[in-house]
Parts: sequence; structure tokens; C-alpha cells
Amino acid sequence: MVRYENSAPEPITESRDTIAGYLHELNTAALIMSIVHMTGSTRLLQELPTPRTIDVVAANAESGEEVLEGGFTRAQVDRVHEEALKAIEDYRERGFTLPELDSAQLDTLYRYMCGRDVDDEYLEFIREEIALDGVDRRGLSFSDPELRQRAAEFPVVVIGAGMGGVLAGIRLGEAGIPYTVIEKNPGVGGTWYENRYPGCRVDVPGHSYSYSFAPNHDWSSHFPLADEIRAYYEHCAEHYGVMPHIRFRTEVVAAVFDEERQLWQVEIQDAEGKRETLTAAAVISAVGQLNRPKFPDIPGLDGFQGEVVHSGAWPKGLSLDGQRVAVIGSGASAFQIIPEMAKTSSKLTVFQRSPAWMFPNPGYHTPVGEGQKWALRKLPFYSKWYRFWLFYTSVEGVYDKTLMDPSWQRSDSVSAANDEMRQALTAWIESQVQDPALLKKVLPTYPPFGKRILQDNGTYLEALQKDNVELVTEGIVSIEPNAVRTADGRLHEVDAIVCATGFHADRFLFPMKIVGRGGVELSDQWGETNGRAYLGITVPNFPNLFCIYGPNTNLVVAGSIAHNCESQVTYILRCIELLLREGQHTVECRQEIHDAYNERVDAVNAGTAWGAPQVENWYKNDAGRVTANLPFRIIDYWKMTHRLHPEDYVVR
Ligand code: NAP
Repeated sequence: MVRYENSAPEPITESRDTIAGYLHELNTAALIMSIVHMTGSTRLLQELPTPRTIDVVAANAESGEEVLEGGFTRAQVDRVHEEALKAIEDYRERGFTLPELDSAQLDTLYRYMCGRDVDDEYLEFIREEIALDGVDRRGLSFSDPELRQRAAEFPVVVIGAGMGGVLAGIRLGEAGIPYTVIEKNPGVGGTWYENRYPGCRVDVPGHSYSYSFAPNHDWSSHFPLADEIRAYYEHCAEHYGVMPHIRFRTEVVAAVFDEERQLWQVEIQDAEGKRETLTAAAVISAVGQLNRPKFPDIPGLDGFQGEVVHSGAWPKGLSLDGQRVAVIGSGASAFQIIPEMAKTSSKLTVFQRSPAWMFPNPGYHTPVGEGQKWALRKLPFYSKWYRFWLFYTSVEGVYDKTLMDPSWQRSDSVSAANDEMRQALTAWIESQVQDPALLKKVLPTYPPFGKRILQDNGTYLEALQKDNVELVTEGIVSIEPNAVRTADGRLHEVDAIVCATGFHADRFLFPMKIVGRGGVELSDQWGETNGRAYLGITVPNFPNLFCIYGPNTNLVVAGSIAHNCESQVTYILRCIELLLREGQHTVECRQEIHDAYNERVDAVNAGTAWGAPQVENWYKNDAGRVTANLPFRIIDYWKMTHRLHPEDYVVR
């Protein structure tokens, strides 16, 4: 039974010994918080140091004392476990009632968990995210009958039923706004529906890669596999009533703004080619950035006789077991495919153009233990604090290490802090590879964060060193009917080719035709690969067109895409609310507001490791401008999006 709802904790029925065993699996900081909820006392917070995000491996190498997650010593953790056992016993004897904590006490908890003093705005950010009081500050609902009526007459078309589109549906439904979700696939999940290549899993913790109001206490691993994530979004679409609003196997071909009626005409086409036009007051694009697979432009690829598959469009049930397989690419997808296919291919040849930086994460494939699942379900507020811990540690993340020091001279790093990271990551790679020739091939020469750093538990480099695996770094010159030819003249015979070569990430909303006010086409306004939007959400000349995960909203190091997705949907709701309250029809971003925002975006992006001129990546368009990434901390993005400034818009 999968349990996603934000339900009250279940009664604790386990023996003291079982519980004592479970405690060893738990996050200490979240457990401390749960103890405070059970006891009503913040005494422990004065007696223990605040939690810290640390590299446990490095900390243990430096310190004589064992250091555990959160920076706690073994003795401190033992003490927390003792206090937890007592608090749980009392809680059970009391019949599972909890003392009330006042808002000042809660603020003390937030400050303790953050490990530092945080200002009022930061507290507001935290309160909204964790919602300990059960108050949902992100949705929209109307009690006034007139507003309810206006909401009911404001139909919205949402494009895409992935994380963003399902969330938009949930929120529009809550607000009483009629909506239709158009989804090109036969099922829900977006990228998690499409990416089903061997080994596909998310590389941020599952317990934070979910909607804040819909935790899943039953993730089977800390970094869940794609199908489990797909099932999560499917469950949410069913549970929150979005499913009946989705039109599957249907694509939006065009959306044209009708100025006279102040409405969008959305042309859709189903899998049988039947076209239809929907009328909408607003259009929300939730198509994502990584949904149009990009095949490499290599002569002869079309004439290859065996299977040619793209990682992002893996046919259901396809098995290449026992075959000689070429994998082209060594980015995030290839990094997951290679260890899996090395187990099943008779020969695996990896064609790498540039190697990836990888970050040591021993728990990357680790299943979630029974103790952790128990605590998520049964310890008061543990799941909320655990999620918050995962979220908060990524809010600041390692953002500072990504920023360029203009006086820095090296080309393989962008600052002293970035270079420190480079050295640590180099040591991690060196610790796994003894062969100097292989080491030379797998050590990146560009700065960390220039491309996505991949989560690694050692399986990737182990796979490359297997007898049936060869890493080829010579460039590919052509594909023959049964082989790949490289620049050194070698012919690599293969039965199948896997292109893990990324997506048309710089072609936002491609290939839809979107026509705004005055007949202006979005693809003309943007140019083919130069998407820009205010806050990544709204675009001048395109009234009531909203993007989720639009231009410059991708996160590289700091934050959670799930959090930002919620911020964007809430912002869109605020725009719609403004219209309904004022009895108006359209909001349209002011050009100067949009331009000033984008100037800031470009300036900050240009000063990061991923914006560095010596670096090539999918974040940049062909002109070298970073179009994918949000260059700000997510607290800054939250500050920009959690309140709508009506003066940024022309409201008509
Ligand atoms: P990617 O990061 O763009 O990697 C594409 C790879 O293909 C690169 O190694 C690239 O080399 C190579 N390549 C492209 N064209 C080539 C050609 N003509 N010849 C040889 N090599 C070629 O794409 P991706 O791996 O699909 O990942 C894209 C993004 O999806 C990730 O950054 C991440 O945001 C997301 N993703 C996430 C997960 C996860 O959560 N675990 C998993 C997969 C993907 P160069 O680097 O030299 O260009």
C-alpha cells in the first residue's frame, strides 16, 4: 500500500528494542525536532550543537572523533537516541497526544535546524515550505461566490502532465478553475515517463523530490528509480483528481492569442491526427526543458542496421542484453546507463567526448531502511523535518563554489573555492583508477559545475574498468551499417547504438507555434534558441501565457526543482487571482521589467562556472548565452516569486 497523503502519524506499536534498532537509521537533526514535538521542551536544542552540513568522509579524516551526518559526534547521537526512546515511551503512554508549541518555539526550531540566525523573510520562506501548522500558503481558493463564479469562467489549458503540469492541475482544481491538460504521452510523469533507460534514477533525494503537500513515505531507495517517480506523479494525478482532465496522446500544435476576445485558441492534435481547437483564458506551458531528444549529427547514423535508441525515448521493454552496444555520450544519462549495460552487454563501447565530474555519494543506490520508513510514518513531524533537512541543505548548497573570481587564472577552475572542489573531486576519481592512461581520459579539464556534477557511488568507473567495456575518446567520424568509425581509422563493430546525447534544451516550447499579441510569434521574438522570460514565467507580448520550468529556471547546484516548480505555480495563481479580483482579462509582462530581469540573469550566469567561456554544456545556446539556468540562490528566487508585483504587468 502506497501512502502519499500528509496524514497524522500512526500509533507506535513496536517494542523498545525494535525502536532502538530503527533509531540508528534516522537523520539526527530531524529526530531531535521530533523529540521536541513529543516533549514540548526545547531544552535539547540548548544542550546540543546545531546541525551542520558536512562531508562526513572528509570530516572523519580530519577529526580524531567519529563525525556523523549533521556534524554530530557518536556520543551526541547516542544521547539523542536515549532521549528519543524516553520521549517515544511517554508519547505512547499518553495515548499519542502532543503538547502545543507556540510560534516562538517553532521559530526556535527553525533557527536551530538552519544552524544560524535567519531573518524574518527567511523564516517566512521556511514556514511556507515546511507548513508545520498544516496551513497551505501556496494554493488559491475563493469563498466569495462572485469570485468563485469568475474562477469557473476562466478555462485554462495546461501543456504537459509531468511534475509541473500535474501540480498546475492540482492547484487550478483547488481554486475551482476549469482546466484541460494536454499530454503527448499515453501516461503521466513527463521526463519520468519518457526516460526508462536501464539505471535511470533521480539524482536528488526522493524525499525532497516530491510535492511539499504530498510526501511519499515509501520510496524504496533514497534516490528512486524512474518508474517509482513516474508512479508517484501518476498517484498524485489520480489522488488529487487531475486524471480526468488529462487528454493523453495529444499534442498542442499551436496557440494563438485572439486579441479581440482576449482569449487563447489552442490547436491540439491527437495520435490519430484529429485536430481540435480549445479556447482558454490562459495557457500554462509545463513542457519542461529536456523533452525533445537530440540525436548526434553523425554521417551514416540513419543507415545503421541495428537498433538505434535515444536515452530519452527508450522503447518500452527493449532489451539489448548480450549484444555489442555503443553508448555515445558521457553525461548524466550515460553515467547511469553504462554501469547497468556493462552487466548485460557482451561488449560495451563508450564514446566519450568530455568526461564528467562526479561527486562521492556512497548512498546513491542504497534502499531506504525499515527504520526510516517507520519514522516517516510514525514519529511526529519527523517526515516534515527530514524533508526540510534535505531541502535546506540544498538551499545554500555549494552555490559559492560556482561563482567566478575574475582574477582567477586557471582554466580548470573559476575561483579558489571552485579549485578546492576540483582537487577533492580529482582525488575521488584518482582513488578509483590505477591505470594512468584511463585516468587521463576520465579526468575533466574544465571547472567543476561547468557541466552537471554526477552522483557517484563508484559504479561508473568500476564499469569502465571491466573486461567487456572499452572507453573510446577518439572522435566519431561516421557510422557504418554495423560499426562506428573513429578519427584514428578504427572500426568499432557494434550491434546497437545508444545515443545518450542529450536534448534540444535550448529550444523552449519547441516545436509548438505560439502567436501572441499583434501576431508576433514566440519563435521569432526569441529566435530559435534564445528563450527569455520574466522570472522564467511570463513573456512580453504573450498575455496570460505562463511557463513552468521555462527559460533560466534550471537549477545546477543549489535548491530543488520541486520547490521552484511550486514557486512558479503559486506565482501563476497569483496572476490569475489578480485578474479575477479586478475583473480583468489579461496580464502581460512589461518589456522593461522583463529586460532588466534578464540583464541580471545574464550578468550573474556569465560569472559562474557553467557560464565560463571555456566551458561547453547544454545550459548554453549556440551563441554561448546561458538560457537554461537560474543563476540565483533559490531563497532569492522565492523572494522574487512569492509575491506578485502588479506594477510589473499591464493588466487589461
Ligand atoms: P547531456 O548532459 O547533454 O549529455 C550528452 C552527452 O552526449 C555529453 O557527454 C556530450 O558530450 C555527448 N554528445 C553529444 N553529442 C555528441 C556527439 N555528436 N558525439 C559524441 N558525443 C556527443 O545529456 P543527458 O545525459 O541526457 O543529461 C541532460 C540533463 O538531464 C542532465 O544534465 C540532467 O539535468 C538531466 N538528467 C538527470 C538525471 C538524474 O536526475 N539522474 C539523469 C539523466 C539526465 P559533451 O559533454 O562533450 O557535449
